[in-house]
Amino acid sequence: MANRESSGTRFLESFYRFFDRAAPHTGLDASLLEQVKSCNAVYHMSFPVRRDDGSVEVVEAFRAQHSYHRLPTKGGTRFSVQVDAAETVALASIMTFKCAIVNVPFGGAKGGVRIDAHACSEGFRERVTRRYTAELARKGFLGPSVDVPAPDYGTGEREMGWMLDTYKALRPDERDLFACVTGKPILLHGIPGRLEATGLGVCYGLQEATSIAEDMKPLGLAPGLAGKRVVIQGFGNVGYHAARSLEREAGAVIVGIAERDVGIYAADGIDVDAAHAHLSECGTFRGLGGVEEVVRPAELLERDCDILVPAALENQITAENAGRIRARIVGEAANGPIDASGERILRERGVLVVPDVYLNAGGVTVSYFEWLKNLTHASFERMTTRYEEIAAERMLRVVEQLTERTLDPETRSRLTQGPRELDFVQSALAETMEVSYQNIRDLWRRKGLEDLRVAALAFAIRRVGEIYRAQGIFP
Ligand code: NAD
Repeated sequence: MANRESSGTRFLESFYRFFDRAAPHTGLDASLLEQVKSCNAVYHMSFPVRRDDGSVEVVEAFRAQHSYHRLPTKGGTRFSVQVDAAETVALASIMTFKCAIVNVPFGGAKGGVRIDAHACSEGFRERVTRRYTAELARKGFLGPSVDVPAPDYGTGEREMGWMLDTYKALRPDERDLFACVTGKPILLHGIPGRLEATGLGVCYGLQEATSIAEDMKPLGLAPGLAGKRVVIQGFGNVGYHAARSLEREAGAVIVGIAERDVGIYAADGIDVDAAHAHLSECGTFRGLGGVEEVVRPAELLERDCDILVPAALENQITAENAGRIRARIVGEAANGPIDASGERILRERGVLVVPDVYLNAGGVTVSYFEWLKNLTHASFERMTTRYEEIAAERMLRVVEQLTERTLDPETRSRLTQGPRELDFVQSALAETMEVSYQNIRDLWRRKGLEDLRVAALAFAIRRVGEIYRAQGIFP
């Protein structure tokens, strides 16, 4: 189990402080709140895995299922040396409330394997992933209607493909077996748009948060993301896709990016794709050129910018550095990047924090679409695209008859093209992020709550509590 000083323990304690701040605003009684807060099950396992040199490492791993109010439970799988029981429980708890905010019908879960994702070989990684999957399946911690993992820090499509393949070998007769994990490669029953979903959702969420002039005024900012200067911490799946969408879709300027070893800064903007290509090829931003190299990457969090987007790990903004953050908005793309004491300081300084439970929910939202697609064994476009093309063509013909004009072939084809699966996914993601923001912002303002996190958690705790109450156990 985690020792008292672990970063996971600090993360969990901090999350509980957030929960306790929100709980009094839910109208739920103490026993129900206790049920909603507590983690329903934690599986702590260890297993031997052969290293490439023939020696054996005993690997420790976890899966926490925070809440069974909805099934299956759902949440990512993290590979990191920091993983412990407390961190996994904190992440699983956040998942429960995240799913409630974006209204996807899952309980929260999370998995973690304590290995160094950045240092191990591909072969070792595969052996660990397959053994971990087998352990989960053995104990009933994996399955399309039980618990459905996805990628998180240190894992991606490749690991999800291995998990699916292992599960398939163990449960070949299961009809819906492809729905046992999400975030899979598209050729292995994944869905277009899942890879970039969390980062794109961060962009949509920040678009919502910055769109309201009344909320921007006290920050001294004009509404909208166009021209806003953004610093990103962590340039992995979430950080890269958030930066790319903020730059391309919203016209923001990415002025700083921090990675583990070094950061980069350019006051007039970094070319996000060029930085990504360099990082993928060289494993570091060193030598990119045309930018300032920042040797102490954490220092970038304190640079002059409008929006700071931590997209790496928890406990990055604490009482130690919160007083020096110059951004007016912090968008929590990572889970738990601000701890409770850091948040108090930011709040006192008038910084707007857009909380993780809402802002990075794009990933689980699109995972839900992938899971639905796997359960129906059909793609979203198959039944509708041709029909919509025919309907649009009919409409155009009427318009042409009425106006006595004929459209040129290029315009005609643009206007009659039916939606592809990616269009469904991205429009549904945009709608989800918009409606969810309105729900939490409305509660924040209507009840005069301290901040958006209190509002988001109060909204979610109440939703989860009401489902427990409907089950007839609690008064
Ligand atoms: P990832 O492994 O793809 O990328 C994380 C990046 O952060 C890596 O490039 C790593 O080198 C970098 N990093 C680590 N420590 C750093 C530090 N101190 N300073 C600067 N950079 C650092 O992971 P990810 O999937 O992008 O996840 C990032 C965060 O987003 C995690 O908190 C995760 O829980 C959360 N999240 C991920 C998803 C998802 O769909 N992947 C969904 C919701 C939330």
